[in-house]
Amino acid sequence: MIGMNFLSRLFFVPNCPACGRPAAAAGVFCEGCALAISPLPPPWCPYCGIPVILDGPCARCLREPPPFSGAISALPYEGPVMSAIRRGKYGPVPWIFGRLGPLLTPLLEAVGPSIVVPMPVTSAAWRTRGFSPPRQLCAAACRELPRRDFPVRELLRRTRDVPAQAFLTLAERQKLSPAEFAPVGSAEGARVILVDDVVTTGATVSAAARALEGAAGIWVVSLCRTL
Ligand SMILES: [Zn+2]
Ligand SMILES: [Zn+2]
Repeated sequence: MIGMNFLSRLFFVPNCPACGRPAAAAGVFCEGCALAISPLPPPWCPYCGIPVILDGPCARCLREPPPFSGAISALPYEGPVMSAIRRGKYGPVPWIFGRLGPLLTPLLEAVGPSIVVPMPVTSAAWRTRGFSPPRQLCAAACRELPRRDFPVRELLRRTRDVPAQAFLTLAERQKLSPAEFAPVGSAEGARVILVDDVVTTGATVSAAARALEGAAGIWVVSLCRTL
């Protein structure tokens, strides 16, 4: 008997979000792009998630622990994932983030039941794109999880924007004063997962975490981080 999976694939073969070719049968990307993607090699800093040489916090987190309990990223910001995110953002092509979202599902499960909060986008990004990549990621990542355990809530808004950072050097990014956020709803006593597409220096997610006053724990889950 022909299974539903076969039939649905016959009529709908999803495209690879990085290159647009047909995606592999089991997976987000096409076979060629999947081969070019490698996860962040362990061990990772338990606070910010960057790869470290020895188990334990990285030098930066030792000097100044971040205002959240931990950060994990699915992949480094390079290769096909970087192409997919750029296509999605600058296309702009919202479905790309819906396709990438399931890459975050195991990360959310690893943190455990929490309120899932998409990082608010800048007003300039909202004006040019008309959608929020983190919001699309959250919706797609949580689709497979029990809704009551992982409710998606917009608990933050931006009070001051910073310019888009994707094309700035690390030194230029570090010179910018961080974005500012204000709470929209209460995070009192709750476990919160902040979700972003790309984490760069961590300054933006740190500012967002500081605005979530009274949370019982804050984790940062991102699709990618720059190294
Ligand atoms: Zn591809
Ligand atoms: Zn660290």
